[in-house]
Amino acid sequence: MRYISTRGEAPELSFEDALLAGLARDGGLYVPKSWPPIAPEAIAAFAGKPFAEVAVALLEPFVGGAIPRAELMGLARDAYARFGHPAVTPLVQIDRSLWVLELFHGPTLAFKDVAMQLLARLMDRVLAARGARVTIVAATSGDTGGAAIEAFRGSARVDAVVLFPHGRISDVQRRMMTTAPEPNVHAVAVEGTFDDCQALVKAMFNDLPFRDRLNLAAVNSINWGRIIAQLTYYFVAGAALGSPYRPMCFAVPTGNFGDVFAGYSAKAMGLPAERLVVATNENDILYRAWTTGMYTLADVVATTSPSMDIQISSNFERFLFEAAGRDAAFVRARMNGLRQSRSMGLGEAMVPYRAGFIAERVDQAAVADCIRRVKAESGYLLDPHSACAVVAARKTLTSQTQHIPHIALATAHPAKFPDAMEAITGERPTLPPRLAGLMTDPERIAVLPNDLAAVQRFVEGEAARRRGAAA
Ligand SMILES: *Cc1c(COP(=O)(O)O)cnc(C)c1O
Repeated sequence: MRYISTRGEAPELSFEDALLAGLARDGGLYVPKSWPPIAPEAIAAFAGKPFAEVAVALLEPFVGGAIPRAELMGLARDAYARFGHPAVTPLVQIDRSLWVLELFHGPTLAFKDVAMQLLARLMDRVLAARGARVTIVAATSGDTGGAAIEAFRGSARVDAVVLFPHGRISDVQRRMMTTAPEPNVHAVAVEGTFDDCQALVKAMFNDLPFRDRLNLAAVNSINWGRIIAQLTYYFVAGAALGSPYRPMCFAVPTGNFGDVFAGYSAKAMGLPAERLVVATNENDILYRAWTTGMYTLADVVATTSPSMDIQISSNFERFLFEAAGRDAAFVRARMNGLRQSRSMGLGEAMVPYRAGFIAERVDQAAVADCIRRVKAESGYLLDPHSACAVVAARKTLTSQTQHIPHIALATAHPAKFPDAMEAITGERPTLPPRLAGLMTDPERIAVLPNDLAAVQRFVEGEAARRRGAAA
């Protein structure tokens, strides 16, 4: 498989190069040149298979022989052995036609572990084969950073610097980034919002001399490796509930559009994901885009679901590319327009594509109600992100759609957001025992202004120190 940029002006890459590049040099995102089909019999056969086996079956067409199957299997088994549930991503039924897909059994209690644990192993494997090293810079609204630091800590070939918005994430989220003692991982609190952090990362990638000097790599959901590692749970859950013979509806708590784009990709490969529900909180740019056809930036507001407090959804560009019939010139023009005027029209071509999705905006009052109601009715405790998906799924569950299993993606464990949960339910959820030391381990943290030069100096300084230490 070869990979092309959504803006059409960067070279086509192999799987390994796309994995290491992250953002394309023309500012676009890499997508596969075509969607490899998964046959209906193969989807049916996923039912009951170990998670790692399904992951490898889905990875193979994208990796295209770059890593032999037996080795891929070893990496996948190793990645998913770190999860606290033998099914890795179990399904729990909470109502008629309504299931919760638990994606939070990894080491940092959020769905990002599912992809990051595998991505780190794939990157280490590719870097070892090339005798190369990279510096990862990543922006996080809370969960990516912890997942990245947890996945890459101790790697001999990777330095990782994670930028997060100072004071805007939970203590548990922060500690998952700041308590790793390994000198190759760094957490930086930026005095700004998540979108500021994301803009800093984009600016570092667009500074080509800096990018080349440090061999920058990305592990945000702009990295194609993240998306393909997220295909697995869509297929696993679909097969468990009757795919390919039965259609499904997936409701996805959405921020950067990476997770729901993985759902779209699964559909493009043959999973009958009849409806994909894009669930947003008050940061509702995607909801507005779907309902008005205009993608217009607004200010970020802080909510009880901070990992969705995002206005610039970076993976939306991949969707735009698909919906425009893979017209890179269209994407280039729209993205330039967006940069200049903070708004873009999606155009007529998008209408049928928008129809394959349903967008729902779920406010914090509805989230709190849902958490209390589900707890009272079934004893099940949802976190605020997962509750956004459950509210959105319930909105689309009508008498006409009762025959379709509705699967709400539960993207975080409630113990990751104890303050929000206590305010909503009156009780503080407890961390799983395997995270016992988290709240008392010493922290290591750098606070920096929202300033590109300051952040670049920090990244370069740390990378130089590590190279000095290695020499
Ligand atoms: C990252 C995250 C999301 C949003 O996922 P995207 O792929 O950015 O849309 C939702 N919930 C939680 C808990 C997250 O960590």
